[in-house]
Amino acid sequence: MNLELTAEEQAFREEARTWLRENLPDGERPPEGQPMREFDLAWQRTLFDGGWAGINWPTEFGGRGLSDIQQMIWYEEFARADPPFTLNNSCTFVGNNHGGPTLIANGDDAQKAEHLPKILRGEVVWCQGFSEPGAGSDLASLSTKAVIDGDELVVTGQKTWTSYAHVADLQELLVRTDPTAPKHKGISWVICDMSLPGIEIREIETMSHVTDFCEVFYDEVRIPLTNVVGEIDNGWRVAMSTLSFERGTAFMADQVELASEVEDLIAEARTRTGPDGRRPAIADDEIARRLATARAEVAALRAMTIAGISRTARTGVPGPEGSMIRLFHGELHQRVYQLALDIIGPEALRLTPVDGEGNWTGRYLQSFAYTIGGGTTDIQRNIVGERVLGLPRQ
Ligand SMILES: Cc1cc2nc3c(=O)[nH]c(=O)nc-3n(C[C@H](O)[C@H](O)[C@H](O)COP(=O)(O)OP(=O)(O)OC[C@H]3O[C@@H](n4cnc5c(N)ncnc54)[C@H](O)[C@@H]3O)c2cc1C
Repeated sequence: MNLELTAEEQAFREEARTWLRENLPDGERPPEGQPMREFDLAWQRTLFDGGWAGINWPTEFGGRGLSDIQQMIWYEEFARADPPFTLNNSCTFVGNNHGGPTLIANGDDAQKAEHLPKILRGEVVWCQGFSEPGAGSDLASLSTKAVIDGDELVVTGQKTWTSYAHVADLQELLVRTDPTAPKHKGISWVICDMSLPGIEIREIETMSHVTDFCEVFYDEVRIPLTNVVGEIDNGWRVAMSTLSFERGTAFMADQVELASEVEDLIAEARTRTGPDGRRPAIADDEIARRLATARAEVAALRAMTIAGISRTARTGVPGPEGSMIRLFHGELHQRVYQLALDIIGPEALRLTPVDGEGNWTGRYLQSFAYTIGGGTTDIQRNIVGERVLGLPRQ
């Protein structure tokens, strides 16, 4: 595998670096609610106006039609520019990284024309309504039901862990449209307008004090049948395409950002006093060894990401191999923040999770999400075993 960039890709990197130097917003991202939404949408609009939205989306849908490698270069330059916020933790994440790509792959012409430009221009926030209290890892056992009535679906049920539902305009919603069919059949993937009558949203606070999480209740919510993506009862196929983007390419920015976090941590270990109470933390053999391992592992993660991009370029849609990257990334993410807390020592207890930039404690608490969201590590291991290695199904 050739990891060298072409001259065109190098030029793209320079272009991105220059633009970011001049356009990166100052100041902190508001952590919650409408101010957070406005900040994220304003940044998305800035990206669009500058020609940096949808770098790897087809030009016919308003993107730049460039490669996933160029998209990755952009993320690397973004992380290098030391921004006051991360791209992964944004309410524009779902629309850009799996809602939009799912519509590109499965939507009809009207759905694409209606929704894709709005995502890129920063006019809408999307959220994902897949998980339910009784359906997480076993997503196909979802029970939120939708009954066809004339040219509408009438939806009743509950979703949970819906990130950013409280600030979202639209939702990727999975509903059961045929309760008599086997559980992977009879599911439909629907675009749900979050302002419809009958929708109630309740926020859930997590241990990292973030209130992005919500429960969403649906009481006879009427959604036009034209909002079904793919065919009615064929939503499992569409959902698998959403999850392939979510597990395959959506976390590319985060994978890249982790490399610069490791460099920040190395800098931190040079200034903090180590376990002997005298020398800097980096002079401690064990800490130095773990930092060197982390640096090697983020380099390995980058190579895996590039290998994944090459595979997707050949096949068009990320395959089950994305789960290998997601698994390695999730567990590495947690190791890096555990190391951060070991370096910082008892002072980590003084920081509260919402104490802004440079807060290793908040990021440590948030890191637990990385082995759960988008499919737990157990589920990723099952996918790698069954669909990549071809082991017998459990
Ligand atoms: C930060 C974050 C954001 C999220 N955002 C969203 C969102 O926006 N929209 C949305 O719909 N969902 C979202 N989720 C929910 C997420 O998809 C689920 O939490 C996840 O799929 C696991 O489901 P569960 O919580 O019901 O756990 P369960 O499925 O109940 O799993 C419990 C435990 O059993 C294990 N387990 C279950 N089945 C198996 C098996 N077959 N083999 C081996 N082990 C198994 C799991 O690994 C886990 O350890 C989010 C979660 C997180 C952490």
